[in-house]
Parts: sequence; structure tokens; C-alpha cells
Amino acid sequence: MAVEQAIELVAVPALSDNYVWLMHDAASGETVAVDPGEAAPVLKAAEDRGWTITQVWNTHWHPDHVGGNAEIKAATGATITGPAEEGRIPTLDRIIGEGDGVRIGVHEGTAIAVGAHTSGHIAIHLPGEAIVFTGDTLFAMGCGRLFEGTPADMFAAMRKLEALPGETRVCCGHEYTVSNGRYAVVAEPNNDEAKAALAQAERLRAEGKPTLPSTIAAERATNPFMRAATSEELGERRAAKDSFKG
Ligand SMILES: [Zn+2]
Repeated sequence: MAVEQAIELVAVPALSDNYVWLMHDAASGETVAVDPGEAAPVLKAAEDRGWTITQVWNTHWHPDHVGGNAEIKAATGATITGPAEEGRIPTLDRIIGEGDGVRIGVHEGTAIAVGAHTSGHIAIHLPGEAIVFTGDTLFAMGCGRLFEGTPADMFAAMRKLEALPGETRVCCGHEYTVSNGRYAVVAEPNNDEAKAALAQAERLRAEGKPTLPSTIAAERATNPFMRAATSEELGERRAAKDSFKG
């Protein structure tokens, strides 16, 4: 009996406002942890479900995304895949960049180079599952700070992510949606969809629920960084958000 089973996807809260994404494929028994900033809550979330982590995928080198790599590998034997990032992820078993493939069971994904937040930052897209892991590049109604790249770099990254199918679920690294939404409705005061998205995010957070995943279609409609017409406008908005007290 061959029954097509969807991949299970869980957002595990970690550190102060990170999400580590656990993705489980029942058919193969594989479980991937994406961007484990710490190990304990991730190992527990997997154990609670009877899952064993077989792979770790990283989107960029920041410690709140890779801090749990070594401990998870020691506990489970998982292999660790991520971007080169000039050697700043010392726990990697395999380095991937633009166009390189990953897989969980029979489900395939592709790395997309989106350097801007960090120079080597990647997103990982699984088209068959309609999932993209965006790390700290694309957030719900936001984008990452430009630590190592320029507004033009982030503008280019937004074009790549915007081009994914609208139903693609956006799994990002932080619960920043309410803060981002408060800025989004200031950046685009006539955007009713952003207002509605902010109201929904506030309701979900009041109930203690994650606001994620978002979707590419929702980001096209509400995200002031994806919606910026030029890299200059994106840069102005990023600078405004950096000092925004919402
Ligand atoms: Zn980061």
C-alpha cells in the first residue's frame, strides 16, 4: 500500500524569539531540523513525537541559527548541511550554494543564494512541499538587517523569493511578525491587507500561537521590503525600520 503522506512541519520556539523548524517525513523516517539555535528544545520536540533528527540544515552562520548543531549531531548522528559563509559554520558536513540540492526522503529541495543579512545566506525551497526556509532574509512583513550586504543585495534576494509560487509556505527564523506589521502599516498606510495581517498576527500572539508560516502570496501583498519598488526604497525602509519604535 503506497499512500502519499505529506511532510509534517513544526515550529519549535527556541532562545528568545527564534523558531527552529522540524520537518518529518514518515515514509523515510527522516527528520530535518532547520536552524537550531539551541539543541534542548529541538531534541525534546522531536523526542515527544517519536522522531529522530537525521539532518540539520542551516541558512546562515549566526549563532542563534547554528548554536545547537554540535549537540544535536552528538545526540543523534545527524548530518549538517549549510552555506560556506567563509568557514563560520565549523560544524558543517556538507556545504551548499545556489542551485544545490538537498533531500528528505524522496522530497527534494534547492538552495537559493540570498546573501544580504549575511554574505553567504541561503534559503532552501522544497517545491513539492510548497515550503521555503528563509532564515533571517524574509520574515512575515519584514526582512533581515543588512549586516553584510547592501540594499541592492536584499532587493535581489526579494526578487528571487517573490518569484516562488504564491502558495509556498514561508518558514523564517524569528517571531517578528507583530513588530514588522506595525512598521508595514506605517510604510504603506493605504495597504489594507497589511492592516488585516497585523490584526491577525496580534490575535494569534495574544493566544500564544505562532504567526508562521506565512506564504509568498501574503508577503507579496503585505511585505514593505518585498514591495519596495527600488533598492533605494528598500534601503530607506530598512533604515527606517532599524530605528522604528512600534
Ligand atoms: Zn541572523
